[in-house]
Amino acid sequence: MVSAEDLIRSRQMRLTPQRRAVLALLLDHPGRHWSADAIRDQLLETMPELARGTTYKTLNELVRRGILEELATVDGVLLYGLRLEPHHHFFCQSCRRWYDVAAEGVERLRLVESSGHFPEAVDLTFRGVCASCRRSASDTSATTPDA
Ligand SMILES: [Zn+2]
Ligand SMILES: [Zn+2]
Repeated sequence: MVSAEDLIRSRQMRLTPQRRAVLALLLDHPGRHWSADAIRDQLLETMPELARGTTYKTLNELVRRGILEELATVDGVLLYGLRLEPHHHFFCQSCRRWYDVAAEGVERLRLVESSGHFPEAVDLTFRGVCASCRRSASDTSATTPDA
């Protein structure tokens, strides 16, 4: 498994405690997407001095180097996740979680009109009900809710 140090060095970035801590946290929870405040809350346990501004700066640097992705959500919150390889997203409208998903046929997508825009990537968001919510909805025999 790739380490925070490897990722930072592979992008020719300087290894700082903040970068290492952010990446280590995200690598510990693959596929999860976090708000900046949620990341900071976690890191405050080991880095009590971590300022909100430093957190945003660190996240922005990692996004710029292509290590992290930044998702603008319908709630107006920016979420951050690992972007070790290109992927698309599934947003569950029931539990409001974001999942990383692979999609087929995306390479055939084109912009309809020649707008002068030059797309470099396509990031799709599928919306609906996630597998976990579908399971709990259909599991009518369950008497104990699973957390
Ligand atoms: Zn769900
Ligand atoms: Zn993602």
